[in-house]
Amino acid sequence: MNVLIVGQGLAGTLLAFELISKGISVSITDRQESLTSTKVAAGIILPVTGRRMVKTHLADQIIPYAFSHYRKLESLTGAAFFHEMPILEIFSSSKNRNDWYARSAENDLAGFAGAIKSKSDIGESIRSEFGGIELLQSGYLDTNMFLAKMNVWLQQNCRVITDSFSMSDLKADNDIMKWKETYFDKVVFCDGYHAASNNLFSYLPFIPAKGEIIDFTAPDLPETHIINNGHFILPLGKGKFKAGATYSWTDLNTITTESALLELETALQKTISCPYEVIAQKAAVRPTVKDRRPLLGFHPVMKNIGIFNGLGTKGVMQGPYYASQMSNLIVNEKAVDDEVSVKRFESLFQ
Ligand SMILES: Cc1cc2nc3c(=O)[nH]c(=O)nc-3n(C[C@H](O)[C@H](O)[C@H](O)COP(=O)(O)OP(=O)(O)OC[C@H]3O[C@@H](n4cnc5c(N)ncnc54)[C@H](O)[C@@H]3O)c2cc1C
Repeated sequence: MNVLIVGQGLAGTLLAFELISKGISVSITDRQESLTSTKVAAGIILPVTGRRMVKTHLADQIIPYAFSHYRKLESLTGAAFFHEMPILEIFSSSKNRNDWYARSAENDLAGFAGAIKSKSDIGESIRSEFGGIELLQSGYLDTNMFLAKMNVWLQQNCRVITDSFSMSDLKADNDIMKWKETYFDKVVFCDGYHAASNNLFSYLPFIPAKGEIIDFTAPDLPETHIINNGHFILPLGKGKFKAGATYSWTDLNTITTESALLELETALQKTISCPYEVIAQKAAVRPTVKDRRPLLGFHPVMKNIGIFNGLGTKGVMQGPYYASQMSNLIVNEKAVDDEVSVKRFESLFQ
């Protein structure tokens, strides 16, 4: 079987790896945009959403799966792009602290809720009047290193093309499709938020969300935890950090804004008391879906054209698990979970 994947972001890369591992002949094309969701992302795995104290859906399956998967890809590429690191969730009030005390003792947070920390445990440079809690099974993927190293691996194991895919170049001949002189049995779109304007899949309820992020230096800020205080602060080593992220559903482009910078700096000053200097600001658009679940499956009419998308705000955590499901659908026709199948939106297809 010959499969063409359109897009080598997180989704396309993970899917290509799965298919190659199953012995499938893969071609992957990407037009190498400089600011994509994967390239701008902080790459954090956050098992419990802060304020609401809700554990991520299927966390017990998808998080251990993601950890072992990224470790496997690290040993395959000889790179270190995945970093396990606890989250420090800052309590917002004494009520919030009491709620966390109660919540952290509940069974479903076993293995995820760590030590409760006092203000003095946390230290002077982080503003934490009410203390905080450590959350475990968390960390981050250095998404740029991941893409670069996996690109090298893909070049050794499949056909990697730098080109922009256009539907007008795809010729369908019975069950076989031809693109640029090569025949393919299946074409799978992993084109991020651009799928929302892809004629074949625009019936799906994408709600792309622009996000902005800043990089900053802060020599006095501890680097032991990812800090979450509504916004996150991610230590990158050697006094460098990322902070983010904003959400906007208008102006879906990669242009940075003054309002996002103001929002991120205000959040930063609310969380840290030590000096810092902003050194970069970036923006990209997340491929998010109305029901916040990924999109896996094939087009209702063009049965050989598929989509693996909608990784939204949690791509790093859920990408490996669902790439495996998508590859099983492609290769073995094994159904994916109903809640992520594109079939849930078939009624929207005219
Ligand atoms: C500011 C920000 C912060 C984020 N933080 C996190 C986080 O901390 N943790 C987390 O898990 N997720 C985070 N995300 C979300 C995460 O980035 C996404 O879930 C994930 O990276 C989406 O990957 P993707 O491959 O679907 O899309 P993309 O990364 O957008 O990849 C799509 C690829 O398709 C290519 N492409 C598109 N159309 C074509 C075409 N016609 N021809 C050829 N190539 C094409 C593009 O060049 C691109 O490389 C964040 C996102 C943003 C914007």
